[in-house]
Amino acid sequence: MNEWDLVLRGGRVIDPESGLDAVRDVAIAAGRIAAVGASLPPGPAEEDVYGQVVTAGFIDLHSHVNDVGGLRLQALDGVTTALELEAGVTPVAEAYRRAAGQGRPVNYGFSASWALARMETVAGLPAQASLGAFMARISDPAWQRAAEPAQLTALIERIAADLADGALGIGVLLGYAPAASPEEYLRVAGLAAESGVATFTHARDLVEMVPATLADGAEEIVRAAGETGAHMHYCHINSTSHRHIDRVLALVDRAQKAGSRVTTEAYPYGSGMTGIGAAFLAPERLGERGLSPSSLTFAPTGERVASEARLRELRETDPGGLVIIDLLDESSAGDRALLMRSLTFPGSVVASDAMPLTWVSPPADALAWPLPRTAITHPRTAGTFCRSLRLLTRDAPGAAGPASLSAVLAKCSLEPARLLEDWVPAMREKGRLQPGRDADVVVFDPETVTDQATYADSTRPSAGIRHVLVNGVFVVRDGGIVADAGPGRPVRAEPR
Ligand SMILES: [Zn+2]
Repeated sequence: MNEWDLVLRGGRVIDPESGLDAVRDVAIAAGRIAAVGASLPPGPAEEDVYGQVVTAGFIDLHSHVNDVGGLRLQALDGVTTALELEAGVTPVAEAYRRAAGQGRPVNYGFSASWALARMETVAGLPAQASLGAFMARISDPAWQRAAEPAQLTALIERIAADLADGALGIGVLLGYAPAASPEEYLRVAGLAAESGVATFTHARDLVEMVPATLADGAEEIVRAAGETGAHMHYCHINSTSHRHIDRVLALVDRAQKAGSRVTTEAYPYGSGMTGIGAAFLAPERLGERGLSPSSLTFAPTGERVASEARLRELRETDPGGLVIIDLLDESSAGDRALLMRSLTFPGSVVASDAMPLTWVSPPADALAWPLPRTAITHPRTAGTFCRSLRLLTRDAPGAAGPASLSAVLAKCSLEPARLLEDWVPAMREKGRLQPGRDADVVVFDPETVTDQATYADSTRPSAGIRHVLVNGVFVVRDGGIVADAGPGRPVRAEPR
């Protein structure tokens, strides 16, 4: 008798790395894939998955979700590893401790947070390892100002301490502190280069939007890669580039061809979401992006912001309150095509920018499931991966026609794993449906898989995902959440 725990029988197994796309059985044992083959012998447990795709679980490089309810939405979208890399969390050791104590349905990990480190070293605020702490202070000018030399030294030391604790890289919310100097950004990139990790940047303003910006947000990322040799990951190229996506992609393409390590990600939605106190949402700055107060929908109340006066009031009273920002118009064919180009760009990975749940009334039990209707988020939290699968393989083929399932799955699992694996050993075991690798597995119906979340119904889970296993344990079974499953493990870099 074999030592297997489970056999997934007769699915269409797709592994972009080896090129396998064929009907196979998959055996799982002790959290790993034990065998992939035709007509494997029976295991102690069997699941028939005929007609379903069986592939490596999706790796989300950009998830701000830290509540179990939100992570369950991500699992129902096929995500088996959700990493907080753009904002990051500092001190990172505390973030890992908290997540381990909480127990998580999917694997987790964090970068060092430039913004939170800046709150400590430039603003003198106490260290608080959470996105909530950042959101609460998002509009505070004290952390956004230009750093003194001694503060810059302390900032670099703070981030280096996180890298010594296994942080996955350096998250840089540069666009939220536009007075931070380009020299500071190069110092941070230099630290990443020395440490052999990547930075994950929310770009500074583009020169088309803010002619007086200290540096063009796109040029600056690319230049940092060229000058320091660091791997610079350009976050959500779809949203910060606004209607200049083609210009930004051409710049990235030139840098890549010149040998710089610049990588990109995108999510297929026209609207963004952040704290309403963000610097670039100040009433006097909305015009830079062609926005007005009514381009903003305040999530806690569901209201379209009626006036500048109301915007000022909300920024004052609840700066971290989440707001939907209309950027590209999803009803415009031109804007939709632009959005899709950010996703089909070679090497651009699918990353959700998933947001924590906002509650319109006092939060329910954190483990309540199904989610009460009072929980609100951006539809990207629940739908990014299945929406990408639907659009790229079925509904919105680019000029070259529909993409192959294998090519799209590579953007969801293999390519994100490869992006990190030089300094994150766990990533060498993920993103592949191969014997010996981690049993992070998603099983879905390729004909019907789709997102269902909308701006009006933002927590509606994706459909068509049948099973999700994390480290060999079902977290989604027969399309439903397994209530007590918490097999997620920490993902850490080799300490620097
Ligand atoms: Zn961002």
